[in-house]
Amino acid sequence: MDNDHHRIRRRTLFGAAGLLGAAGLGALTAPAANAQAVEPDIDSTAAWGARPPNGTNPVIAGSPNKLIVHHTVSANTADFSRAQAHAHAKWVQDLHMDGNGWRDSGYNFVVSRGGWLTEGTTGSLPALLAGASFIQGAHTSGQNTQAIGIANEGSYHDGAVPPAAQWETLVTLCAFTCEQYAIPSSEIYGHMDFGSTLCPGIFHDRLPQLRDEVETARGL
Ligand SMILES: [Zn+2]
Repeated sequence: MDNDHHRIRRRTLFGAAGLLGAAGLGALTAPAANAQAVEPDIDSTAAWGARPPNGTNPVIAGSPNKLIVHHTVSANTADFSRAQAHAHAKWVQDLHMDGNGWRDSGYNFVVSRGGWLTEGTTGSLPALLAGASFIQGAHTSGQNTQAIGIANEGSYHDGAVPPAAQWETLVTLCAFTCEQYAIPSSEIYGHMDFGSTLCPGIFHDRLPQLRDEVETARGL
């Protein structure tokens, strides 16, 4: 895919690990001494043309204590473009605001099937980059004030597997988010750990692998 090179772009590279990381992502990147998670490109709500939130998204001081992985139950599109990632981010926001009556997109971040990242709940991206607070999303009952919600485009409760680009970007995002907030790699969960749901499908089966790859991407 001619989009593949985009997903390995990084705005910032940290030290030796970043230089190694430029050749590959996540588990493909050999851990190095002093390795550290690299910052992935994330398209802000402004970049993908989000609607303003219907109200003010609460800012929570300090760090979340876990990441929770979701899937969006959208079609498993073969369109891996950045434009599709933006269209999907809009679809999610419309569904959450108009369908569910929420103030904004409920997920803090969304990973497209093509490996593009978008900010979901408005404000989540600058908060992540600063690492001193986070935005309360609406993704997991009872966990929204203590967890970052990361959703994957597509439906994975029915035997489908995520494209490699999506998986690798998920690893990169989780590693960076864990670093920014000092969250142990073991504290990555799936929605079904906290409620009766099929979400996030096969991503839940793969949580041990995800935690391992995140640990490696952090150089830990
Ligand atoms: Zn979910």
